[in-house]
Amino acid sequence: MSALSAEVPAQDDGYVSYDDSTRDRYRAEGWWSGHTLPAVLEHAAATHAGQTALVTPEVSWTYRELLDRAGAFARGMAADAGARPGDAAMFQMGNVAETVVAYLGCVLAGVRPVCTLPQHGSREIGLLAQHTGARFLLVQDDFGNGRLRQQAQDLSARGLVQSVIVARGAAFEGARAYDDVLAAGASDPSAPPAYLSMDPASVAVFQLSGGTTGLPKVAPRLHEEYTYNSRAWAEAMEYGTGSRLLYPLPIMHNAGISLALQPAMLSGACLILAPSADITTLTAMIEQHRPDVLPLVPPALAIRLLDAPEARTADLSSVRSFVVGGQKLPVEVAERLRDELGIQVRQMFGMAEGMFLLTPAGSSEDVRHHTVGTPISAGDEVRILEPGSEAAVADGEIGELAARGPYTIRGYYRAEAHNQTAFTSDGFYRTGDLARRHVTAEGTFYSIEGRIKDVINRGVEKIHAEEVEELIVQHPGVRTAALVAMPDRVLGEKGCAFVVLEPDAEPLTVASLADHLLALGLARYKLPERVEIVDALPLTNVGKVSKKQLRDDIEHRLAAEDRQEER
Ligand code: AMP
Repeated sequence: MSALSAEVPAQDDGYVSYDDSTRDRYRAEGWWSGHTLPAVLEHAAATHAGQTALVTPEVSWTYRELLDRAGAFARGMAADAGARPGDAAMFQMGNVAETVVAYLGCVLAGVRPVCTLPQHGSREIGLLAQHTGARFLLVQDDFGNGRLRQQAQDLSARGLVQSVIVARGAAFEGARAYDDVLAAGASDPSAPPAYLSMDPASVAVFQLSGGTTGLPKVAPRLHEEYTYNSRAWAEAMEYGTGSRLLYPLPIMHNAGISLALQPAMLSGACLILAPSADITTLTAMIEQHRPDVLPLVPPALAIRLLDAPEARTADLSSVRSFVVGGQKLPVEVAERLRDELGIQVRQMFGMAEGMFLLTPAGSSEDVRHHTVGTPISAGDEVRILEPGSEAAVADGEIGELAARGPYTIRGYYRAEAHNQTAFTSDGFYRTGDLARRHVTAEGTFYSIEGRIKDVINRGVEKIHAEEVEELIVQHPGVRTAALVAMPDRVLGEKGCAFVVLEPDAEPLTVASLADHLLALGLARYKLPERVEIVDALPLTNVGKVSKKQLRDDIEHRLAAEDRQEER
């Protein structure tokens, strides 16, 4: 494979584009098509018009039915809501059919979805709206007891979002109802799709990174590369018109879009969208809809499945591909799935920045249980680097996983300074994950061995320690604080806050800290689940807080408490 050009690409409109020679090569290889995401999705959907596209507990639609709605929503966004190509729309919508319609409708209208989640708080939504310049916020009214409507009203009143669209509920004053946008578009089917004038090298979708410090960085996903990401996954997973994918995690997350929704559409497969990852719902939906692929099962969900009596009696026999990823899979969980439920796992590694690794179909149990596989595209280039250096470590040694290729971003959105350290001088994205390359007779595979980034992976939900610490120290009783991961049998990790209080401050508890953080608009899943009051935080020999020492400390405390309980 020829080396890619190392010339520094232009930072244009806030995103780093691929240089011309790279783009030409990706097209010549057939990875990139020269078309926009909506053009490709619309063409694929039209090809499979009569096939079932989407199944939820409420709907079962063919590709034609889904596309008609998405087209109407796109036209309604333009005609009724005044959206223009290049606008951005934040999403706070769960796993319902309206989310799929609105996502596809925005893409068709050239409006860039910002893939925020309903779980985000007003702080994240406000800051990300500012960062992306989003004009729109779509909320699902019947998610979370009306919390999203309230939050949207507050953000609107504070001028942080200009235009709110409320799905599955009535609009409040100044907002629009999803149904009205859809109806406005349905009445004018003649308007040409907005995407015809769009550039395939421009931003199609904004995804949120799980991989950096501070407030989540924004990964600008460009039309051609994001389309290819979905196609490469569909090919690696061998999706076809007969495939039935069940997806129970938030569909707007990059994994939902790139492992399930878009690859399904490109293949004419059926997407079965579960409203939640609750085990009873999940097993019932497997029995009723007989999916053959579960494209992403986080280890925490696999453990819950193993713990649940329903899983022992449910008929899970339709599932042929059970892909675990998003977080380190303990090997004993893979063995229990095999022994207790007859499930042969495959593993994947994914990230909003691009590159996916997958254990190939038919690989040995050793590979499936101990590695996250191999890149899904021949265009993916992987390096294992010495942390803090651009030198590669030897095969078999642990180093930082770095990637470049036809669907890995070249820079975060509007983050020039951060991009200097997040990417190597020749454009490899430094993941912050520690990995090992295994060169075996069966092939070359990678295992994830830890991480250097200051992130807590709570059952695949990422918590950026620095973001939470900045808010904890705003508490008047707190002098300083550090958030670290503590082990959890199901979720893998949870956040534990070590706090140094001001003299004479009231004692801080998990509940009082939660009140403080929620008042600042932080998402609930980021709340520390344990608070340790200490006299001082331990320091490394260069004077930084030693998170390693704090992680060891809480691990020992938890182990001692477990021993105490056993007695
Ligand atoms: P996100 O961008 O939210 O999808 O998060 C990407 C991050 O999730 C990666 O950089 C890893 O830290 C973590 N991750 C994803 N898949 C795995 C896996 N199979 N094993 C361990 N960590 C993983």
